[in-house]
Amino acid sequence: MPDRTIGYIGLGHMGGGMAANLLAKGHSVMVYDLDGAAVQRLVDQGASSAKSPKDLAAACDIIITSLPNSKIVEQVATGPNGITEGITSGKTYIDMSTIDPDTTRRVGEAMKSKGAEMLDVPVGKGPPQAADGTLTLMIGGDAAVVESCKDVLDTLGNEQFYCGTLGTGITTKIVNNLVSCTVATLLGEAFTMGSAAGLNPSNLLEVMQSTAAGTAHGKMYDKVLDRDFEPGFKVALSHKDLGLASQLAASLGATNLIGSAAYQIQTMAMGMGLGNENQTAVVKVPEEVTGIEVRKVD
Ligand code: NAD
Repeated sequence: MPDRTIGYIGLGHMGGGMAANLLAKGHSVMVYDLDGAAVQRLVDQGASSAKSPKDLAAACDIIITSLPNSKIVEQVATGPNGITEGITSGKTYIDMSTIDPDTTRRVGEAMKSKGAEMLDVPVGKGPPQAADGTLTLMIGGDAAVVESCKDVLDTLGNEQFYCGTLGTGITTKIVNNLVSCTVATLLGEAFTMGSAAGLNPSNLLEVMQSTAAGTAHGKMYDKVLDRDFEPGFKVALSHKDLGLASQLAASLGATNLIGSAAYQIQTMAMGMGLGNENQTAVVKVPEEVTGIEVRKVD
């Protein structure tokens, strides 16, 4: 393994697991997050910590971010005390957040002006796969730079897809999440309808999973029937991703009728204060309308 230090910024559900996995696989890791407890968890596992993104970028060879949204990524990357203030020629910045492609390309230009490289490597799957290195990676950027980061990417994801130039990874991720976040929203309506009709939701789930209606979301839908909305992927992030898909469609003149409907339902979920619950909590919107709760029956 090359003798390099990996800097990790954003130690939440995804970044916390990815940084821990890098440490466990023998990489030298330095971390930064606004949340002191998140930093301490990684320091306890052997990471060093930095006082700012600037200091982290100055000390590390590869700098990774996994942050909530475009605005925060741009601020951390190019704002005061940001990565561009510390990064130098020969280093690589990898953003693994889900953000808008224009921000990705703008940040990429800012990195280039410092002689540094950038890859966009948004991820598929969730916190358990972040922790054990089995994420799906959607990779955009120069192929030679991708190759130079191969050991790090191989540690993080066992399914990797090279999508093309900088910005194509994140664009792939937005289109992917248009589908996955819409499906999560549709399941909420379907299970509320089934429950309103008096169907046993556990039986309905088993039927669906044995037909073309079966999905990866369905595999985890038992949690909804148990009323467990502990966040792995928050409504706020799912809502953001459907908004990114709406923006992308508008910029291309593409239709997005079904995704727009899901986005509106998730906007209602946000208005109901569900932003910090798991995205499956969107079921509470149709439940509120019908007065029916989706719950396991004995
Ligand atoms: P999260 O909210 O759990 O974690 C975000 C972390 O960023 C937190 O620890 C927070 O303290 C930190 N942070 C916020 N602002 C900061 C700043 N200015 N400087 C430093 N740290 C800051 O989010 P998450 O679920 O880990 O998601 C991270 C990204 O990955 C998002 O863009 C999300 O859309 C994407 N994603 C999430 C999942 C998932 O299942 N959770 C899956 C794929 C992609």
